[in-house]
Amino acid sequence: MELANKRIVVVGMGRTGLAVSRFCARRGGRVTVSDRATAVENPDKIEELKALGVSLEMGGHREETFQNAELIVMSPGVSENIAPVRAAAAAGIPVTGEIELAFGFIDIPIVAVTGTNGKTTTCELLAAMLERSGRSVFLGGNIGNPLISYADQPRPVDVLVVEISSFQLDTIDTFRPRVGVLLNISPDHLDRYADFNAYAASKMRLFENQQSTDTAVLNAGDPVIEELSAAVPGQKFFYPHLDDRQAGASLSNDRIYLRWLRPSADQSQVSDSEIDLTHFSLVGRHNRENACAAALAALMAGGNAAGVQAAIDEFSGLAHRLEKVGRVNGVDYINDSKATNVDSVARALECFEGRTILIMGGLDKGGNFESLAQLVASRSRMLILTGAAADRIRAALGNVVAVKEAENLKEAVQMAHAAARPGDTVLLSPGCASFDKYRNYQERGRDFRAAVEALTQ
Ligand code: ADP
Repeated sequence: MELANKRIVVVGMGRTGLAVSRFCARRGGRVTVSDRATAVENPDKIEELKALGVSLEMGGHREETFQNAELIVMSPGVSENIAPVRAAAAAGIPVTGEIELAFGFIDIPIVAVTGTNGKTTTCELLAAMLERSGRSVFLGGNIGNPLISYADQPRPVDVLVVEISSFQLDTIDTFRPRVGVLLNISPDHLDRYADFNAYAASKMRLFENQQSTDTAVLNAGDPVIEELSAAVPGQKFFYPHLDDRQAGASLSNDRIYLRWLRPSADQSQVSDSEIDLTHFSLVGRHNRENACAAALAALMAGGNAAGVQAAIDEFSGLAHRLEKVGRVNGVDYINDSKATNVDSVARALECFEGRTILIMGGLDKGGNFESLAQLVASRSRMLILTGAAADRIRAALGNVVAVKEAENLKEAVQMAHAAARPGDTVLLSPGCASFDKYRNYQERGRDFRAAVEALTQ
């Protein structure tokens, strides 16, 4: 796509919007970056953009700016349903997103991972598997470096591993990953999608441009994916059970059995491998499923079984995802701040043998908290609520477990400490976004960790 001299409006001034602005400006685009907010997240980047000739429009989107644009590029954090974008689209102005824009400038094979939960874990694991197989990798997308940053300053690598959110898929047009991975689809972001079907359809767009030579790695244990996968055009690899399928992965407690077809070679050439999970340090069946998906994708992207095994043995997990941050008086404290929807809370509760004292709350994204009732009733001694969603969670779960309310996480941790018995687990798994009180889930997780550390000081 030719960007030189084009009037380009970049919507949203977060990390992605800034990277898009830089990319377009460096290719001669006449860029305005427009944001509703009055203050910027990255003030140090502003000077660089100004030096590149980028205009800033802060504190609201001007209709005129959008109507004069020749191209509008959305950041994933902003819905393309906002009025000025809708009006511009109606006037025939092309609206695209960062992933689609970047894709037009990249000719290295892409492995893209989406799903409601597990994207970051799976991407990290997959990148490690490829690296341990001797492949060079760029890891980015919704995690760390935006894909457009790679397009801006490409370096020679064998493969790009890209985490993709549904919001990013909403603005694709030709984006085509050679390998697409779909981990699961459970209710989330219902504050931005019309309904669950719209959200699920958005996730399935990962495969819409794939061809028969491309690969789709699909979770057959997820009923929504099982149903929607009929329309996937590429070669399908299912996990975590093989049944009588030709290729895919089958998971038992301590092993992954992989049956796969060598890419591009004679399609009848089936390979079998076994991966030992004895030294895999992540807890929970969901993480073993993530490992299945990562292993299949790694093999299809040029990795080998030895590299997959080495990465499984070495991977130590990520902060804020079921991360143990302390043990006090025989009670484990687990930081699962990244659990921002109901399904991730359910998976977390399933991980612990003894009773949990569960801390939930934050900014409500419209989650169906009632669906946790059975698990909470059977696994939790107490539920401690904080933040904006407390009333809705209490209404949904107050009849199955003892509920307390805390002003903040520090108080929640102190209440949990007072109520816990040796062998219990205190679990922060909020089931909500963090933005009611924090800048992001990392800040919330660090606050929890500090409160736990304060118990012993
Ligand atoms: P994402 O990037 O999709 O948000 P993460 O790997 O950051 O995924 O994990 C987010 C949350 O989801 C964590 O609480 C984690 O324990 C949980 N999780 C990870 N994998 C899965 C899975 N396959 N199914 C359900 N929950 C998961």
